[in-house]
Amino acid sequence: MDCIFCKIANKEIPSDIVYENEKVIAFRDINPVAPVHILVIPKEHTESVQTLDDKHLSLLPDIFKAIKEIAEKENISESGYRVITNSGKHGGQEVFHLHFHILGGENIGKLRCK
Ligand code: 5GP
Ligand code: ZN
Repeated sequence: MDCIFCKIANKEIPSDIVYENEKVIAFRDINPVAPVHILVIPKEHTESVQTLDDKHLSLLPDIFKAIKEIAEKENISESGYRVITNSGKHGGQEVFHLHFHILGGENIGKLRCK
């Protein structure tokens, strides 16, 4: 499968990894839109929220545990941050491997759609 995030998870292409365990890996976004912009993914491929099956759903606690730990490590747990996952065309998804953006490090304001 030609998936850039699978390649990152398999270390076939380099990335700035900030967290890793058996099931989850997180790395800095190549094109950050905030001082802290990290992507958290399950190592196992699934496209988006919309393709989550029971096995993938069981990974969500691991993903949110990672998010919480990363926020602490990046010193944004108290100042705050936003977690976003885009799904499909209208959601603006560009990489079709489920991922959660962590955005913080400055006041990123209210959520806007456009
Ligand atoms: P999406 O729009 O699918 O929610 O977000 C995809 C994100 O992946 C974008 O923010 C983009 O900058 C990031 N991205 C795309 N290719 C790479 C890559 O090769 N390495 C890293 N670290 N981030 C990437
Ligand atoms: Zn993938």
